[in-house]
Amino acid sequence: MPDTAQVGITLPPETNADASFANRAHIYIEMHQTQESRTMSATAPITQDVHTIPRKLPEGPVNLVGLTRDKMREVLIAHGTPEKQAKMRVGQIWQWIYLWGVRDFEAMTNLSKAFRAQLAEQFVIQLPEVVTRQVSKDGTRKYLVRIAGGHEVEVVYIPEEDRGTLCVSSQVGCTLTCSFCHTGTQKLVRNLTAAEIIGQVMVARDDLGEWPEIGARNNEKRLLSNIVLMGMGEPLYNFENVRDAMKIAMDPEGIQLSRRRITLSTSGVVPEIARTAQEIGCQLAISFHATTDEVRDKLVPINKRWNIAELLEVLKAYPKVSNSERITFEYVMLHGVNDSDDDARRLVELIKGIPAKINLIPFNEWPGAPYKRSSNNRIRAFSEIVYQAGYASPIRKPRGEDIMAACGQLKSATERARKSRKQIEAETGLT
Ligand code: SAH
Ligand code: SF4
Repeated sequence: MPDTAQVGITLPPETNADASFANRAHIYIEMHQTQESRTMSATAPITQDVHTIPRKLPEGPVNLVGLTRDKMREVLIAHGTPEKQAKMRVGQIWQWIYLWGVRDFEAMTNLSKAFRAQLAEQFVIQLPEVVTRQVSKDGTRKYLVRIAGGHEVEVVYIPEEDRGTLCVSSQVGCTLTCSFCHTGTQKLVRNLTAAEIIGQVMVARDDLGEWPEIGARNNEKRLLSNIVLMGMGEPLYNFENVRDAMKIAMDPEGIQLSRRRITLSTSGVVPEIARTAQEIGCQLAISFHATTDEVRDKLVPINKRWNIAELLEVLKAYPKVSNSERITFEYVMLHGVNDSDDDARRLVELIKGIPAKINLIPFNEWPGAPYKRSSNNRIRAFSEIVYQAGYASPIRKPRGEDIMAACGQLKSATERARKSRKQIEAETGLT
């Protein structure tokens, strides 16, 4: 994807054209900290050093992928489409891109030849590039996709009997440092653009051959029926881009996934949770993982900023505002750390009053991980206590382990990106 697709990335301010990368990165980190320190209550650093690679300003043709309808209208008008026609043109182009999966303006046959030629000159329809595609013994597919600046992220497709779920990444790496998570050990970070987020869905649909024949009714069983924002990154630290991409996925004249089939997982960015209910309205999953602040501080360090009580408080309002049935609490089972009967009892006590389901995730090990997976018997005993208290407590079956595609194992791609940092800097115009 060219640099033109960069609209919407969090960027350090271009204060001085000659400012060195180090200076600009420094400015950015300060801004970042100022923003976050407003609500910060703990002293320990929660995030790792943030390395954000500044980018060139967009130039050349604009990517139409990832723009909301309103933004697409704006860019069409800015490029000469008469205002009166703009809404209709957006509707037409939108259907071609998101309903039929068309990438070539020439194929948009309900637009005049002249307009098609004009579009082809001014715009592109560009997706992340698929670098590798691995298929697990269990049918799980992992794609490594390359995005602007040479970064790479992973996308995982998990087929099940009654659904097919795409696990989408929202950032390159993650600024948070959950101690059991492979992604959290990775430093290089940038937010993905809305184009890069919805682009993951589009490349997966390409691979699954899921775009309908032009003009055909789209009522077949979907191979890609659900999206979970559970790949690399903390989606609520990239709110606007995630929101815009999910709005595109839900649009009734495009990919048409119901908001009930989209689940956003967060480690607990409390101030953004109410906004998620209002502005996205999808299902919510919380990476809970511990029943005391002492343990959660260690496992999910963002807990030092927003603790269990603050998190639960904001969750109470979520189902009503988003009109969703219940919240999923994700709970990774770590041997001897958070998996006792007492933990299970505390858990059900804590979430009392919140319509919930508890997803128990057997810990997926990765090279150098400081934890062990709880035994099957322990996980079953924990699940039973939660179940007896009236909550569904499914144990998540690890998928795609043989290709390192299971929860918390995504990282390898970005490590490569870190190695080629010099190259990335060169590509972004820094050297
Ligand atoms: N940043 C978001 C979404 C990505 S992580 C979040 O933390 O919620 C998706 C889920 O995988 C989270 O519940 C996370 O806690 C869990 N996870 C991370 N590492 C894991 C591991 N090694 N084994 C099992 N689950 C893990
Ligand atoms: Fe980031 Fe989520 Fe991993 Fe924590 S669990 S480090 S928030 S990706």
